[in-house]
Amino acid sequence: MKLNSLNNVFICKQNNSLQLVKIEFTNTFQKITPILSRTFQWREINSVSKRKRFIANLDLTSPSDDSNILDGNFLLLIPGGIDPHVHFDTPGFEFRDDFEHASSAAAWGGTTTIIDMPCTSLPPVTSLQNFKSKLKAVKNRSVIDFAFWGGVRGNDFENKNDVYKQVGQLSKIGVAGFKAYLISGMDTFTDLTFEQILETAKIIKENNMILAVHAEDKHRIVNRMNMFQQKNRNNWKAYCDSRDDMAEVLAIKTLIEIAKATDCRIHIVHLSSAKGLEQVRKAQHLGLKFTAETCPHYLYFTQQDFDNKNISNFLKTAPPVKKATDRKELWKGLSDGSLSFVTTDHAGCNPKREKASKNFWEVYGGIPGAEHRVPFLFSEGFLKGKLALQKTIELLSTSAAEFFNLSQKGKIQVGKDADFSLINLWTSDVVKSSNMHSKGNYTPFENIVFNARVEKTFLRGKVVMERKNNFIAKPGVGKFIRVRNEQ
Ligand SMILES: [Zn+2]
Repeated sequence: MKLNSLNNVFICKQNNSLQLVKIEFTNTFQKITPILSRTFQWREINSVSKRKRFIANLDLTSPSDDSNILDGNFLLLIPGGIDPHVHFDTPGFEFRDDFEHASSAAAWGGTTTIIDMPCTSLPPVTSLQNFKSKLKAVKNRSVIDFAFWGGVRGNDFENKNDVYKQVGQLSKIGVAGFKAYLISGMDTFTDLTFEQILETAKIIKENNMILAVHAEDKHRIVNRMNMFQQKNRNNWKAYCDSRDDMAEVLAIKTLIEIAKATDCRIHIVHLSSAKGLEQVRKAQHLGLKFTAETCPHYLYFTQQDFDNKNISNFLKTAPPVKKATDRKELWKGLSDGSLSFVTTDHAGCNPKREKASKNFWEVYGGIPGAEHRVPFLFSEGFLKGKLALQKTIELLSTSAAEFFNLSQKGKIQVGKDADFSLINLWTSDVVKSSNMHSKGNYTPFENIVFNARVEKTFLRGKVVMERKNNFIAKPGVGKFIRVRNEQ
């Protein structure tokens, strides 16, 4: 296998310290050689002029003309992003998005591995047979590597499906974990009652797997929704008031009781509120196996942004974004470790068809974010001083690799898959939906400036995206990853 080299790239050593290195790789990392023995601090290169001076002061031998040696152009090299919560919609919901478009968008955004949710597929990934049909439908259609979540639905219990057998088989075949809802808007993937989720958690624990839950309290939300709709309140405010932070708190409290009763690993997806985070921290202090993630939209927007008519409908998602105090606490949760990683909950649609209604209740809830996660977290987290460089990289890649036992991913280390991206931290881009690569091109981040750009993405040693040449690899280079669950 051909050995490639990438010269002159910065890698993160620890916190905000970096090293200038040369990377050698085939489909895996082969060798990482310091070009400069000393490490240095980010502040030494944190502006265009400082970086220029830093490079000018280096006494480097002239580059060889060996075509296998690529020039890293003194960019930051990070392990390929891992986005463990996406809805790529193949098969069944491809009028919204599909694996070709969404995986291309992810590659443009520096992500090389995703884990696709089980609910936005038809059939949903709830049995071995359905898993096989999804794998077949997705074959040769991804630009990046992918794994699947399994799921457990209210429908499974109502149809008297053998949930015990389904979870067992999916665990063995290598799903990343199981998704369930305490409130769902989908007929094909209904929510679970308390009794059902308790039963599900017992089964998942027996298989030593993770139960990931959409945690908002159904009773509270449905009551308030009915009340508001009867009063003809159909704007964003009514929607947000129906799904407030108390809805999140009630659901998480329920799940804490489930965790206590079963010792099952429980993961809260797309956490949105400070009070919700407080509950997650309580569970962690009790020693429960209780984790959570959040998404860029909760870290950037507040409900005031719904007043901006240009993005109001595009910002709709469930749970809705909250207030400035929530946003602040979520950033704190990322830096103190109470939140495990940042996901996108990528869920696109055809905006003309599904984001246009004047009745906010009818607007499709979902944001296609796969392309923006990495530049967002560098720009808003690292460059604004909210997160250290090392922490930023962990939240985008390493932590998810460890959490889901993706042993070949998430680190620049000899033997691991050569999945990586080159990040330019000395440039700015204005987010434009017209430049997006997912099928439904819209974003609440429209016209926002990111001070970081993904220049090039490699998957198992091969370039899958190069911005300069507007290059994206053909779908099919991405492979299915069987998650090795320790039984
Ligand atoms: Zn989701």
